[in-house]
Amino acid sequence: MIIVMKADVLPESPEVQQVIKMAERFPDVHAEVRTIQGATRVLTEIYLLGSTAQIPQEPFEEFPAVEKTIRIRERYRSIGRHDGAEAFGFEYNGVRFSQDTFHVFPGLCAVDSRENVEIMFRALRDAGIQTTRAGAYKPRTSPYDFQGHGKTCLPFLFELAGTYGMKVIAMEITHEAQLEEIGDALRAAGNPTGVLIQIGTRNAQNFELLKLVGQQREFPVLFKRGMGITLDESLNACEYIASSGNNHIVLCLRGMKTNFGDPHRNFVDFAHVPVVRRLTRLPVGIDPSHSVGKKAVAPDGLLDIHHVTAQGIIAGANMVLVDFHPKPEEALCDGPQALLLNELELFVRDAELVRKTYLERVKLREALGT
Ligand code: PEP
Ligand code: MN
Repeated sequence: MIIVMKADVLPESPEVQQVIKMAERFPDVHAEVRTIQGATRVLTEIYLLGSTAQIPQEPFEEFPAVEKTIRIRERYRSIGRHDGAEAFGFEYNGVRFSQDTFHVFPGLCAVDSRENVEIMFRALRDAGIQTTRAGAYKPRTSPYDFQGHGKTCLPFLFELAGTYGMKVIAMEITHEAQLEEIGDALRAAGNPTGVLIQIGTRNAQNFELLKLVGQQREFPVLFKRGMGITLDESLNACEYIASSGNNHIVLCLRGMKTNFGDPHRNFVDFAHVPVVRRLTRLPVGIDPSHSVGKKAVAPDGLLDIHHVTAQGIIAGANMVLVDFHPKPEEALCDGPQALLLNELELFVRDAELVRKTYLERVKLREALGT
């Protein structure tokens, strides 16, 4: 059961303590307090876990500080959109993430040279973009491929992020030690930017890593859907993160591995954007680059990457992670799918156009009331 406190009731307040005290009088029940940042207000929610089936709702609803109580369904206890529960939202380094926001994260798949990072960041700044991607730790299919520069590139990456006003960098980690390396490098650089910790598709069921990113609250998490597991399994993986204490999560769709997806690198699964929004309280991202994997052009002149991006946004995606590179032919990772810097304006303007249309679709439905 979730007990939603009225707006402005703080987690440490006596009102919250009173509710917990009453809840924990029931055998085998324990309470966890979580803070939810909604669109207009911060909410304190008390999750009652354990043997809660027999607990009545009414006594809790009688507390003046309680707004409502919500029965949790068994599925996705922490991230599920249980009837009446508001979607999660969070603000990180001045950037807000929720099911109502929209951000594009164009950037390098992997950091290769200082020069390319600088060219990339300058182009983003000139386009008014403050969110990007940059991989330092790259999980590669072959052990002989470039594995990323690791912690050695973090000092110049963060310094340049500060210089060019990048507020959030999406960056994958493959091992717990890297979390500390990133934290140390950020502090050493004077916290010029923020990092959205990415859990890649290959680690989607690395439960120890999931628990670890869930136990820390310093960084939000970008969870990439597992490429060969069901959506339910990926949502349960997010449940590992959230139930460990961190619900600042964006779930990112990135295509599924199956030959049915040919000729794309993965079978594009952006039809699941509304599904994830319905089943969970999480903002949803899409990664058209790793889904499509190449720069095939459709007869209308737009790339397949543009078309699938539009398909995700028109369905309500909150974030787009997309590979760009100043010189893709020299990229050490995923060059063939990277867009060129002179393609940035079209990508961003097209994405904004589709986002605007999505919002108009929602308004149209509301106006017609059907
Ligand atoms: C990436 O975004 O760089 C990446 C490797 O993605 P995925 O884990 O989805 O393959
Ligand atoms: Mn890649």
